[in-house]
Amino acid sequence: MYAGAKAVFYALSRSATLKRLASKYGMRSRDSFARRFIAGETVEEAIETSRQIQTQGLLLTLDYLGESVRTPEEAAAATREYVRLLDVIVASGIERNISLKLTQLGAGIDRATCVDNLRRILEPAGRHGFFVRIDMENSPWTQLTLEIFETLWQQEYRNVGIALQAALYRSEEDIRHMNELGARVRLIKGAYKEPETVAYQRKSDVDAAFLRLMRLLLDSGTYPAIATHDPKTIAATRSHARERGVATDRFEFQMLYGIRRDLQSSLVAEGYRMRLYIPFGREWFPYFMRRLGERPANLGFVVRGILGDR
Ligand SMILES: Cc1cc2nc3c(=O)[nH]c(=O)nc-3n(C[C@H](O)[C@H](O)[C@H](O)COP(=O)(O)OP(=O)(O)OC[C@H]3O[C@@H](n4cnc5c(N)ncnc54)[C@H](O)[C@@H]3O)c2cc1C
Repeated sequence: MYAGAKAVFYALSRSATLKRLASKYGMRSRDSFARRFIAGETVEEAIETSRQIQTQGLLLTLDYLGESVRTPEEAAAATREYVRLLDVIVASGIERNISLKLTQLGAGIDRATCVDNLRRILEPAGRHGFFVRIDMENSPWTQLTLEIFETLWQQEYRNVGIALQAALYRSEEDIRHMNELGARVRLIKGAYKEPETVAYQRKSDVDAAFLRLMRLLLDSGTYPAIATHDPKTIAATRSHARERGVATDRFEFQMLYGIRRDLQSSLVAEGYRMRLYIPFGREWFPYFMRRLGERPANLGFVVRGILGDR
């Protein structure tokens, strides 16, 4: 079921007809179904949401949605949007933290284009005190994403971190390497349907791997981010940190906008750092479909939303 649901929603996420239909209904009014997970289609809406979130004591990272661009012009346009986003964030006064995907910056076109585009963002981001997190996409991109990250790291960019997926067999080795570099890692379970050759298929195996990697990061990583909504995993992280004397300011929890708000606020109330990943933009469909793949029960509110919205 776990791997199956991801596969079905991944296949659906490539359907142009479904995308057209979803785009028509998903965001059109204030309570349309996609708004549960997406902060809005415009940067202004995202800033407004971010302000509200900050008042609840949460940290944040903003993601300008988009991925798998096909031409250098699209990659350049996405890069310009990110640079503009930095300016808007600075002007707004909200926290300076963004997340991005390398296929949005041209990783699928060629490595040099993507490195250049990423540098165009890291440069002003560094000047203005931003932290930039590189999201991790599906496994055909893992190696290239890590190589591009390391290229920039070797050029002394330190305002950048990476995300690694517990589902992948290789992640333990990648985490050990990041720990040696002193690079910041966001640990996640992994949102993509992956083949057996590279990833655990059973949820219980992914959960167990997450716990092993969480310990590795808390014991010898640099300000790791433990990104999950799973109460058991969160409890295990808290107890490991307590046992090892890892103070609450030496790591953070992260969750996605719209998921488990109850847990988000209870962690804040207990003095933990809690960062919310806030996606916005017109290209929300693939992101939205991954959220359905993680929890097919979410389909219920989509159907109710469409029926109620017609
Ligand atoms: C901050 C952040 C950044 C991320 N970045 C990436 C990335 O770069 N690359 C990547 O592959 N993945 C990324 N993910 C997604 C991640 O890989 C998982 O797919 C996702 O977090 C679901 O796994 P889980 O650990 O939260 O818990 P699970 O064990 O899957 O679920 C635990 C509980 O969380 C809740 N929950 C989980 N997912 C949903 C949902 N979609 N809708 C409603 N409730 C839900 C439910 O209550 C569920 O019982 C990110 C996740 C977070 C929180």
